[in-house]
Amino acid sequence: MFLKVYNTLGRKKMKFSPLREGKVGMYVCGVTVYDYCHIGHARSALVFDMIYRYLKARGYDATYVRNFTDIDDKIINRANREGMDFREISEKFIQAFYEDMDALKAQPPDVEPRATEHIKEMMELVQGLVDKGHAYVVDGDVYFDVLSFPEYGKLSGRSLEDMRAGARIEVDDKKGNPLDFALWKASKPGEPAWDSPWGPGRPGWHIECSVMSMKYLGETLDIHGGGLDLIFPHHENEIAQSEAYTGKPFCLYWIHNGFVSVEGEKMSKSLGNVLLIQDMVKEYHPEVLRLFLLSTHYRSPIDFSRKGLEEAREAMNRLYRTLGAVEEVGVSEGKPTGGESMEVVAKLKEKGEAFYNAMDDDFNSALALAKLFEGARGINRFLKESCESQEEKARVVGAFMDLVEPVKRVFGILEMAPQEWLTGRNEELPLPLEEIEGLIQERQEARKQKDWARADTIRNELKAKGILLEDAPKGTIWRLT
Ligand code: ZN
Repeated sequence: MFLKVYNTLGRKKMKFSPLREGKVGMYVCGVTVYDYCHIGHARSALVFDMIYRYLKARGYDATYVRNFTDIDDKIINRANREGMDFREISEKFIQAFYEDMDALKAQPPDVEPRATEHIKEMMELVQGLVDKGHAYVVDGDVYFDVLSFPEYGKLSGRSLEDMRAGARIEVDDKKGNPLDFALWKASKPGEPAWDSPWGPGRPGWHIECSVMSMKYLGETLDIHGGGLDLIFPHHENEIAQSEAYTGKPFCLYWIHNGFVSVEGEKMSKSLGNVLLIQDMVKEYHPEVLRLFLLSTHYRSPIDFSRKGLEEAREAMNRLYRTLGAVEEVGVSEGKPTGGESMEVVAKLKEKGEAFYNAMDDDFNSALALAKLFEGARGINRFLKESCESQEEKARVVGAFMDLVEPVKRVFGILEMAPQEWLTGRNEELPLPLEEIEGLIQERQEARKQKDWARADTIRNELKAKGILLEDAPKGTIWRLT
């Protein structure tokens, strides 16, 4: 079995073979830090978090680089509006981004470079392009000459005519060709500026990613990722300037995640339906958000809806109820001896293989997760209906946990203790936790003294409040109805 990846460059699934065997260098375009992040950012972060986790689970030595664009018109505009330095704005939103990523339980990339810390290298690359005849200087701006790179358009599959028709022609355009793009921009008075051979200015957006990716991962990347909206012009431009500079392929596999809409509509500030990560994590547990976002294949669009999120929450509850039941039985390392147990174990093993096959097929997380749910249904039925001994059940549970393990690692879900999840559920409890535990304690005392009436009263009181008690071999557990 080998990993297949859908490559935007070429528009088909291809066998994944990185440049150096066993090693993967992955660069993903990070955020421009001028505002709080929304669920569109969450999707991109979680898709590449999953891909990074899967590559590692599959034994690759993966290096993940994701940048911060911390100098940009939008940052400067916001700084001007708020009367702050652009650095204060970018720092504030970088910190907010870290908080969002922690809240989503996204693993941090290995390197998180900031554009402003790589200005010198950007100037070197721009100068190199000027020297090689791929770029020209006009009044302190430096532009990339698109016609000097005949393969321009190969990623987006657009022809020069199409691109020209779609290009905005500005009145004061100093460019030789409307498609040419800025590598370096002369700063206006009062704007942040760095001294350069072409006068005071700052880098263009596209050059930032070429420089930061090649600095940390070498001149040919294995994977470059980002949202679909970045294919043109951002990634097309990254290819042109990088390959014109190095003469080598810039990236072997281009991976793009699909769009996010909200309740069937495009998310936009004007519609007032922008869902911020910081608000969503208050309402939904990160594992619910992760399950919701990863239950759809990364290239398909996702519609964010309350209904969908509630379904994801219920699905997580079901999984944790299964884990709770499984925990009660315990895990045995031994091999099952009975016919029925062996059959269930064989089915669980098949699901485990199907999990990896699905993930190997262009990270089909939707199918991989379906295998987990099938496995959970199977084990539930077995634990409830089978007449096998506890010891035999514990052996089957071992096979189920073999299926749960890669799910935890790759999707970052099911990491809590079932009891903790089922009693907390990230919702308001009907009674303070100490009160619930106090009543359970009191009921146990009553039972010890054979005061069944009191024990029943407590059970019923709690039930009326939506708290169900179950007397398990290891003590009383409780959950919300
Ligand atoms: Zn980028």
